[in-house]
Amino acid sequence: MKKLLIALKTSVKTLVLLTIATFLILAAVVLIYKPIYKVTLNGEFIGYCQDKSKLQARINDYLKTGNEDSANIAFAQIDNLPKYEICLLKKDIVTTDEEIYNTVISTGTNIYRYYAILVDNEEKLYVSTLEEAEDAIQQLKDKNSNNINKISILEKYETELKEFVTTEKVVADLYEKKVVIPKTPVSYSRSANLSTTVASLNGISLTRPVSGTVSSRYGLRDGTTHKGLDIAAPKGTPIYASASGKVTTSSYGWNGGYGNYVVVDHGSGISTAYGHCSTLVAKYGQTVNQGDLIAYVGSTGDSSGNHLHFEIRVNGVAQNPQNYLY
Ligand SMILES: [Zn+2]
Repeated sequence: MKKLLIALKTSVKTLVLLTIATFLILAAVVLIYKPIYKVTLNGEFIGYCQDKSKLQARINDYLKTGNEDSANIAFAQIDNLPKYEICLLKKDIVTTDEEIYNTVISTGTNIYRYYAILVDNEEKLYVSTLEEAEDAIQQLKDKNSNNINKISILEKYETELKEFVTTEKVVADLYEKKVVIPKTPVSYSRSANLSTTVASLNGISLTRPVSGTVSSRYGLRDGTTHKGLDIAAPKGTPIYASASGKVTTSSYGWNGGYGNYVVVDHGSGISTAYGHCSTLVAKYGQTVNQGDLIAYVGSTGDSSGNHLHFEIRVNGVAQNPQNYLY
């Protein structure tokens, strides 16, 4: 029993001694050493960090706002974030949190945000804010710019800033006057063999009815007025309506010397007459379009050779066709 008691006493003593020893060693470590972070970036040592959470918070702030005081900075980016490794070091080691921060952000890039104005998907001008871009487009819309359907905005994220322009400059540069589509068509497939000459009389567009050569002009001839223009062409040459309108005459016969002839009323007091035809194609009362086949050249009526007698009448009075055509 006594033996056992002595053994226990010894054990307690040993335990107490061990505890004291451990405490002393720890105290020594805490006094001489401290936990510190070794920082590496892309595998390279860049310093010892005193306060990891504070340093990382500053880096995160930088990533959000970049290192420049510009309204166009969207964020910043760094290829690789620093790596931290905890270690115990002597207290006199120098920590360089500020330097580490500067080293890290020196590898970063500012990303700028701005807006491109596109025409037909091609970047034309740049503005700083979305508001400016939208304002410019609204103004172009209000001005009824012809290209409004081709204009768009593109949000850009780039490492470099562009030269920005004002809203006024965007509007001035991109505004396109509405193109007024001319009422008078320029050419007709059905009369493609004819000249594309187009004349306008009281707003009615007129084209040449036949291809051929002028053989007799409008004016005094043999003591009377020749009321039209004669265009010589082989028999069967197509004659096309000089303008759209309604066929008011399509008559075979002598017809006062006109022979087989067609008259088309174009409205606005304008009509055209086609004399000495062989076969008539347009029927009385029919509506014809400019360039439609209406008859073929012949030599009927008071005629000595194949030709078209072509008249332009204003309120029934024959005009000189050469004031307008040929
Ligand atoms: Zn004639």
